Amino acid sequence: MAVNVSRRTTVNHTSRLDMLRLPVLGRLLRWRWGRLAMQIPLIALAVLLIVDGLWGNQLASRNTATIGAWVHYRGLVVLALLLAGNLFCMACPFTLPRTLAKRWSSSGRRWPRVLRNKWLAISGLFVFFFLYEWLDLWASPWLTAWVIVTYFAASFTLELFFKESPFCKYVCPLGTFNLVYATASPSQIGVRDHDICATCVGKECVNGSYSPQPIMLVDRYDPAGRPAATHEHNARGTLGCGTLLFPPQMQSNLDCVFCLDCARACPHDNIGLFLRMPGRELANPHAWRKRWDVALLVIALAFMGITNAFGMVPPVYRLIDALAEGLRPLLALGFAPQAIEGVVLLLIFGVGNLLLPAGVALGAGWLTQRVTSSAGRLSLREIVAAFAPAFVPVGLGIWTAHYLFHFLTGIGAIVPALQEFFGFVPSYAFMGAPLDSPWLGLIELVALLGGFIASAVLAQRTALRLFRRQGTQAFAVWLMVFVALLAAALWLMDQPMEMRGVELFS
Ligand code: SF4
Ligand code: SF4
Repeated sequence: MAVNVSRRTTVNHTSRLDMLRLPVLGRLLRWRWGRLAMQIPLIALAVLLIVDGLWGNQLASRNTATIGAWVHYRGLVVLALLLAGNLFCMACPFTLPRTLAKRWSSSGRRWPRVLRNKWLAISGLFVFFFLYEWLDLWASPWLTAWVIVTYFAASFTLELFFKESPFCKYVCPLGTFNLVYATASPSQIGVRDHDICATCVGKECVNGSYSPQPIMLVDRYDPAGRPAATHEHNARGTLGCGTLLFPPQMQSNLDCVFCLDCARACPHDNIGLFLRMPGRELANPHAWRKRWDVALLVIALAFMGITNAFGMVPPVYRLIDALAEGLRPLLALGFAPQAIEGVVLLLIFGVGNLLLPAGVALGAGWLTQRVTSSAGRLSLREIVAAFAPAFVPVGLGIWTAHYLFHFLTGIGAIVPALQEFFGFVPSYAFMGAPLDSPWLGLIELVALLGGFIASAVLAQRTALRLFRRQGTQAFAVWLMVFVALLAAALWLMDQPMEMRGVELFS
């Protein structure tokens, strides 16, 4: 791949703390087998969950598959995103077969152009959350194990036939969640010195340094025309960026799976993993491309945070019952009750996860054009895309409140499940924080309010940047959306919530 390094679009990281320079951690991260060393424990864990899920106790609250996948994984992922970065993708066990497939098929075809966007990722999230609710994945160790197996198979198959890590970049629902919310994380890949990139011949960070036969590349010639700096590619080299990002021009964590292949491939040791202000890229108007698919993905994911918790509270059971009652005539036509429940959930999720976010985004964009008289200057797409990054904090706050609630109340449940798996007598002495703990409510409130305030600040900055004196009117439009999301989340968190995958022993 031939690429130019433009200083105009790059970010200078030289004053920031570079974690790849740290004495022990930095060496481990840059080590040729560093990623594998992180993946092996997670692969062992995935195998354990699959074995227990398929052949272990099928009671969700006593099986590591359901507790591990639906209580601990989700809680730990949001904590990692908030405190460090996309650590799960960095050590993702599903990418090991993917890496093997890539070695075997380095000449795979490019992912079809029509699918090189986030529409498939939005569909994947929609289907994932629908199936989660319809099939009660959280209550079935057996189905949870098959979800994990499907992930391995899909990742391997797509990588076998296509370049560009399409599974991570365009398909994986877990990865999509991580990639979106890593944009608020306090770390980002970047280069140490842009001048080195400007004269770099091989651009190995994206092209890779792997070569079946050794080849020599010349980076620089001396005044006499003799090679002054060279480096070699050979079979010990590394693949370049799987998602085809070019680190000298990166301004966003969107699409970066933190694999650090670029750092291992760069022959000039010019890649860093820099600490940054959390959410810094969300305030950078040039960090994201102004595309409908990216904007609607981020906005829809914030709404999905509400509907995902929606299915666990009594008022929604009553709504589901009422809708199912309305569809009762379908029973006479031979529809099974579970199929009717599927139709009801499709209706609820179709409205809540797709129609509502799309309608709100278009409506708010249209209203913004009206109150600022900017219709001729800025298209609807440009306005919605400009405000989309502001949905990251409020969305992350909603997901964090929800996932941490389950994580903290079920944190101890994994111990008896593991004891049972390994043949010990399970001890249920500590399952997690009591439901009436004031700390739980406080943590949820901090997550929700923190996300809301950060979103409001970002929206205000965007409104003032785009509309100057009319910025207040534009800000008011988007603030109403965030207030509605916050109100819905607070109402939800105030409801008695069903404990999923965890039995309450009182
Ligand atoms: S391989 Fe290293 S020096 Fe070359 S462009 Fe990439 S980051 Fe810059
Ligand atoms: S830029 Fe590419 S190679 Fe580097 S960490 Fe991100 S995804 Fe991996």
